[in-house]
Amino acid sequence: MKNLFLILFTTLLWSGCYSQTDKKTTMESTKKDNPVYSKNDTSKVVLSNDEWNKVLSPEVYYIAREKGTERPFSSKFDTFKEVGTYYCAACGNKLFKSDAKFESTCGWPSFYEPVSKSSIIYTPDNTLGMSRTEVQCGRCKAHLGHVFEDGPPPTGLRYCINGVVLDFEKAKAAEKNYNDNGKTASNS
Ligand SMILES: [Zn+2]
Repeated sequence: MKNLFLILFTTLLWSGCYSQTDKKTTMESTKKDNPVYSKNDTSKVVLSNDEWNKVLSPEVYYIAREKGTERPFSSKFDTFKEVGTYYCAACGNKLFKSDAKFESTCGWPSFYEPVSKSSIIYTPDNTLGMSRTEVQCGRCKAHLGHVFEDGPPPTGLRYCINGVVLDFEKAKAAEKNYNDNGKTASNS
């Protein structure tokens, strides 16, 4: 009987450890060690492309630093409806709230307004024979996408954003994750 309890206990312990390890591995595989990533620090980030290359995944680097575009309808955020906040995947800057997200059918996650004026930088983009306005992260200048004037009320704007450069955090989980991250940081 005692042995049975021991086995049961060990199994529970093992499965607990396993799921934690699994979670950690998943997080590490999607994010490299990025020292500038912070959801609290709002100071501007200026790194060379060589430096960005070391801290961003190839997918994020391609969009953020080489102004690439992900394939339409390829982002999980395209039709994503969870309530929460979207952050810059390169630096952690707060960019959009799910309240301002709408289904545009254009194939990329779309928002009608950013979290604040300073969260985004606007730059004229005349490449590909088109006159467009590029939107960049207000903290690290990562390329995010473009803004068009065919969006819904109240702004009439459509921020057409590459999902690859977005990090999403669920509304209810926000505070908990913040505390967990704080603990991890002080332990290391
Ligand atoms: Zn950024």
